[in-house]
Amino acid sequence: MNTSHDRFDLIIRGGTIYDGSGGEPVSADIGVTGDRITALGDLTEAAAADEIDASGMAVAPGFIDVHSHDDFHVLSSPDVEHNVYQGITTVVVGNCGFGAAPYDAAAERQGELYALPPEVKPWVGYGGYLDTVDRVKPSLNVAALVGHNTLRVDAMGDIQQVPPSIDQVTHMAGWVAEGMEAGAVGFSTGLIYEPGRYSETDEIAAVATVAGGYGGVYATHMRNEAERLVQAVEEAIAIGQTSGCSVQISHHKASGSDNWGAVERSLEIIEAARERGLDVTADQYPYTSGSTRLVAVLQNGALTEGTGGIGRVQAKDVLLATSPGRPEYEGRSLASFVDDWDLPAEDAAQRIIDEAGEHVYVVIFMMDEGDVRRVLAHPTTMIGTDGIPRGSKPHPRAWGTYPRILGKYVRDEGVISLQDAVRKMSGMPADKFQLAGRGYIREGAFADLVVFDPATVIDTATYEDPKTPPTGMPHVIVNGVPVVRDGRHTQARVGRALRRGRE
Ligand SMILES: [Zn+2]
Repeated sequence: MNTSHDRFDLIIRGGTIYDGSGGEPVSADIGVTGDRITALGDLTEAAAADEIDASGMAVAPGFIDVHSHDDFHVLSSPDVEHNVYQGITTVVVGNCGFGAAPYDAAAERQGELYALPPEVKPWVGYGGYLDTVDRVKPSLNVAALVGHNTLRVDAMGDIQQVPPSIDQVTHMAGWVAEGMEAGAVGFSTGLIYEPGRYSETDEIAAVATVAGGYGGVYATHMRNEAERLVQAVEEAIAIGQTSGCSVQISHHKASGSDNWGAVERSLEIIEAARERGLDVTADQYPYTSGSTRLVAVLQNGALTEGTGGIGRVQAKDVLLATSPGRPEYEGRSLASFVDDWDLPAEDAAQRIIDEAGEHVYVVIFMMDEGDVRRVLAHPTTMIGTDGIPRGSKPHPRAWGTYPRILGKYVRDEGVISLQDAVRKMSGMPADKFQLAGRGYIREGAFADLVVFDPATVIDTATYEDPKTPPTGMPHVIVNGVPVVRDGRHTQARVGRALRRGRE
């Protein structure tokens, strides 16, 4: 390949290649033709229409965010800046049981936060959603999970606290089949949320079995990440076993200080399941705080007895992130409302929801740094942002997850090696979610690439100022085209819908 008459559309010269496999890095140039990597080696003699100088830099496969909530965001803000600036070239949407279809049930949850442009019309099913992504062309690729909460609302007409009828289970299963036929990568649940929290193991397993028949993933925000973490992991594994799905534990953590350290046990359970031949993995964002809806904090009793899925948290550890009806509340702690209003924490939270609406999101400090490191270092953990980039003070993970791992946890603290981190961000998720031709730097693969400086890369997004791009990550390429060049978004819109197992 490396002859002087080769001519490429793009050559990335002089970088150190981390190919996504976790293997040792190598020095090589990368030749890109169209949307593919067509040469890897010494391309000194070759010419190209465009060149990127990567000397002194690392070159990795574009990062795959396995835990995205950007189902509507990729359509409402298709430049998806918060993602591409941190090296993400593919998002897996539909997490925590909240999917993009059927449209009405999906829009009820996501439509208020993400206003769709008028040219985007309601879609039918996952086939319609993925086609809409292809028509809108965001700046990155999109794969989708089918969301249980969304299906349950559609099947049961509303939020129901009772088991579904056989017909209603069949209705949900029908949408999973539609989604998997259309190319969805699996099925997700969010079992601390309405209405998923009212569903029992049998219901979930029955619906997941359809996804399992297609070789899909079962991704779960488990019923409990606190004092019943172990039982929740066991439930997820049992559902995987019954349904035939591989299992993805979403944002693996132990929540609430009473439960810190419990990830040692949950990691052991995952290891034991893998030894039995089950494909069980997890994902993580690298922070000691999480973010969720304030409604869910109340429903799980987190401000009172703390026996629900979130554990016990204190008002001082809860920050208002997104408060649609009262944006002036964003950035304040719940404790400040407790003081101002002289109310118990739970009553103050309810008053905020009454004033600002049900789509209030909060940041909650509820994890232990030691647990974060333990989970990150574990070979079954891959990376996802769980970002919800709305309001003025969203959780900084929406902008900072990947550079934070590369800077803080790889370079500064040595928790994992750089090649291991890259594998958790690219090859490992591509294999798990069957994203054909993605996740690795090899000849013939899609040219989704990120160029960063291992010596300087770092997140800059903070709780006070959470919507800032990283430094040290100058170039991001999607399907052969730079979408970030010299640290600036090029406005290129070259992303595609990714359909399970298909190139
Ligand atoms: Zn979740």
